[in-house]
Amino acid sequence: MSDGASLHLLLDRIRPDEIYNLASQSHVKVSFEQPDYTAEVVANGTIRLLEANRQTGLMARFYQASSSEMFGRPGQSPQDENTPLRPLTPYGAAKAFAHQMCAIHREAYGMFVCCGILYNHESPRRGEHFVTRKICRSAARIAKGLQQNVELGNIEGQRDWGYAPEYVEAMWRMLQQEEPDDYVIATGILHSVRELLQIAFEFVGLDYNEHVITSLDHLRPVETTPLVGNYGKAEGRLGWNPKIDFKQMIETMVEAELTQLGK
Ligand code: GDP
Repeated sequence: MSDGASLHLLLDRIRPDEIYNLASQSHVKVSFEQPDYTAEVVANGTIRLLEANRQTGLMARFYQASSSEMFGRPGQSPQDENTPLRPLTPYGAAKAFAHQMCAIHREAYGMFVCCGILYNHESPRRGEHFVTRKICRSAARIAKGLQQNVELGNIEGQRDWGYAPEYVEAMWRMLQQEEPDDYVIATGILHSVRELLQIAFEFVGLDYNEHVITSLDHLRPVETTPLVGNYGKAEGRLGWNPKIDFKQMIETMVEAELTQLGK
């Protein structure tokens, strides 16, 4: 993503019908430690990919992974496609810039570019530093006697967490429409890290209170106010809605960790 010429060559060689730009430095806390690198990949990287798509003459349908982090501290709840962007983190700012560049390419060059404003989406494939995977993995490992405790930051933190495979289907649906547009993809329901702990540890027959250590290392310089999305437009136009609920999703994730450890 940091080399425009390579992107140009790749698109020329592959000549894809659809491009999904999921490339990112996607960890919010890391974005405070590496804001320059985050902007390079997330913001400028998106320009490079858009421009490679345009300059090769390919003009493939383009999906941009926009993020609820762009809303920062929004004046309305739930947020929708018209909510003003007020990012509070370097990651959110970089995503907001990329989001706006996508709209510019759509307007200026008539390109088929869709931005999915996705809220957190999780699965057993989630990176180990994100809180859902970290907790599910720890619950499984503690149950198997492989570790004692899990160190966490703010367990009152809340998110609108959905199931990633369903969100990927929404991305694909966006690119099958007649006209390009932006869509919020969310569940519309908030849960806390504490609830997550409760579900994950209960699933393995443990009490999370006996295994959680709070550590300053995992606190963020700024915590966004709880973001929750209104997916009404996606439901109306794409026929999309979330099906797996939070408890099912967390249990699926703990189950996957147990299976992995069993191997
Ligand atoms: P993101 O910040 O929305 O990209 O997702 P995360 O999974 O990184 O964090 C979700 C919430 O969990 C935030 O409110 C964090 O402050 C909170 N949290 C609490 N402890 C931890 C931790 O140890 N690691 C991470 N990643 N998040 C934590």
